[in-house]
Amino acid sequence: MKFFKSATNIILTCIIFVLVGALVCSLVVIKKKDNYIKSVKAQISENDSLIENSEALIAEYEKQIAEKDQANSDIASQLEAAKNEKKKLEDENAALKKKIETLSAQKAADAAAVSSPQSPVPSGEKVCYLTFDDGPSKNTPLILDILKNYNAKATFFVINSADIGYIQRIHDEGHTVGLHTASHNYAQLYSSTDAYFNDLKQISDKVESIIGIRPTVMRFPGGSSNKVSAKYCKGIMTQLVTLVQEKGYSYFDWNISSGDADSTTPSYTYIRNNVLNNARNKNSICVLMHDAAAKTTTVQALPEIIEGLTNMGYRLEALTPEAYGYHHQNLNN
Ligand SMILES: [Zn+2]
Repeated sequence: MKFFKSATNIILTCIIFVLVGALVCSLVVIKKKDNYIKSVKAQISENDSLIENSEALIAEYEKQIAEKDQANSDIASQLEAAKNEKKKLEDENAALKKKIETLSAQKAADAAAVSSPQSPVPSGEKVCYLTFDDGPSKNTPLILDILKNYNAKATFFVINSADIGYIQRIHDEGHTVGLHTASHNYAQLYSSTDAYFNDLKQISDKVESIIGIRPTVMRFPGGSSNKVSAKYCKGIMTQLVTLVQEKGYSYFDWNISSGDADSTTPSYTYIRNNVLNNARNKNSICVLMHDAAAKTTTVQALPEIIEGLTNMGYRLEALTPEAYGYHHQNLNN
């Protein structure tokens, strides 16, 4: 009995030990978990704080990007404005260059006219010789209609164009048919004095075959002061101005350029203003114009030119061999 009692005690003691051990173990495990949870919570809190920092940084960067976008947009506007300003200045420069060219040409024509050795035209009634070079063309009958309408006379320095037949009407209506060479090809006709006179003879023969007259009124392609001819034969203009007069021709330059050869087809107001502005304060004018096919704005400007000149007191006449020649003196070759 005593044995059983002590065995039971031992077993109970063992069970108590096991239970106490299990309890201790559980307590240890619980403690460990508590610690782990604590450390995770600390980590989460730390991460929350880092996330907050990151959000602040993102907000800061977004702010900076917005500022830079605004700055870029401002720079783009400034670039656009600078480009527009550059374009405007370039246009102004081009217009000023054109103006200088026109003024230089007018100055040269005026200087040439002033220094001409010819005796001046008789003072008194104001006279204007309108001249049309490089035709005839489809524009010639339109010009003739306008001249007829104003009862004005003019001079046509003709080349051997496809529309050469119009010289019959030019002649019949009381205008002067003058010679301007057959080819108007500088390289060809200014290669020598012989080449020039051969070319002149061709147009002279052609004109005679149509109107029965060999004109003695003529104009050099480019005028007597052209600089292009020197490329083909240096000094040829100095020889030609003497030779043509020895052969009985009267050559005519001009003292007003309409500017209708400054570009292919300039505006009609440009042509009109060139003529009318330069005709003021003069008594005797010879106006260079062109009736080649491209010169449609010359036709358009003509009525206002005639009206303006008439209002200034000019009488519009056709050139004769005896008329003042408006010779350019700056031959330069
Ligand atoms: Zn010409």
